[in-house]
Amino acid sequence: MPTRADRQLRTVRLAKDCAEQGARVRTIHCITGLPSREIQRLFFNNPQAIPRGRPPDSPEWYHSANLLFRTDSSIVAAIYHRLSHAGFGTGEALVGAYRHYRVVCQAPHRISFDRAFDLASHTDGIWIAKSPSFAIVTCPSCASEFLAALGTVAKSEACPFCKLIQRYGNDPRVQTSFPTHPLPDPTTFRQGMSMLLWMNTGEADGDSHALSMPIPGDAKES
Ligand SMILES: [Zn+2]
Repeated sequence: MPTRADRQLRTVRLAKDCAEQGARVRTIHCITGLPSREIQRLFFNNPQAIPRGRPPDSPEWYHSANLLFRTDSSIVAAIYHRLSHAGFGTGEALVGAYRHYRVVCQAPHRISFDRAFDLASHTDGIWIAKSPSFAIVTCPSCASEFLAALGTVAKSEACPFCKLIQRYGNDPRVQTSFPTHPLPDPTTFRQGMSMLLWMNTGEADGDSHALSMPIPGDAKES
């Protein structure tokens, strides 16, 4: 059973993770419950470096945001939703989702950590939101999960990813944000398989022999 010290360390660790993602003091306070003054003392030695300005307010913003903001918002929110439903705490799920978003999407990242926090708040009705305004729905056409107003019936017309696919050929901004990746050269698989078989059998008499051998588990011996 975690001790009080374990819980406190976990809270400070979570606050540090949030600060490293660029969270403002209010966001860290809502997620961890640490007092604002303590957050400033621990993570913002330089008062000039404290993120300021108006915090995001997503329920109105999302519906008028451009397509790329809506797809990025949907990616962050869908990952957060999966992690929190997989049993992670909401704070850990948000930090994990935001890190994953930054890995899978091209920079510059349109969604700040504070925006991701705001979207998650209004999806689950937690932290700064008294009740949910958004839901994650699955598109019946492309099977992508996207953010929509609570109560929205899942239709492909409302799906930002379906719109993205329609626009892809004609919109350089969309192409830059979601670049295609060339398919890997199949000869590298062939060489890798030959090497694996050679290592398994200890045979060193060339690729042609190795490739003629059955792949383990794939043999149809009677
Ligand atoms: Zn779709």
